Amino acid sequence: MISGIKKDTGSFVYMRLKKHVCPDCGQPVFLKKIKKKIKSDSRAAKNYDFHIGDVELKGTVKFIWYEFRCTDCGNQFTETEMREFEVAEKKREKAEARAAKKAEKKAQKQAKKESKKG
Ligand SMILES: [Zn+2]
Repeated sequence: MISGIKKDTGSFVYMRLKKHVCPDCGQPVFLKKIKKKIKSDSRAAKNYDFHIGDVELKGTVKFIWYEFRCTDCGNQFTETEMREFEVAEKKREKAEARAAKKAEKKAQKQAKKESKKG
């Protein structure tokens, strides 16, 4: 018997309106609904939050949430994992852009030097 249901749809804008790609292979992802029944006194319970506000659910609770699933490799990612990946990806892109700019400046300097020489 189920004593409670805890549903977590995540951020509507982030999950449903923004486009995401698979962190592993870059292919499009789709939203997959996950349902799991967890007993509050089982070992798995420590990985789940049985609270809804101030109320703690006891017994068998049905957890419902959404994860991103890759259309190609089939790997699944939680909202948190996807956010972490995208933040890291943005940082990497910025660092690459900075490095490219630096290299360009260096090349320009070098070219100037050589034109002076000549
Ligand atoms: Zn993939």
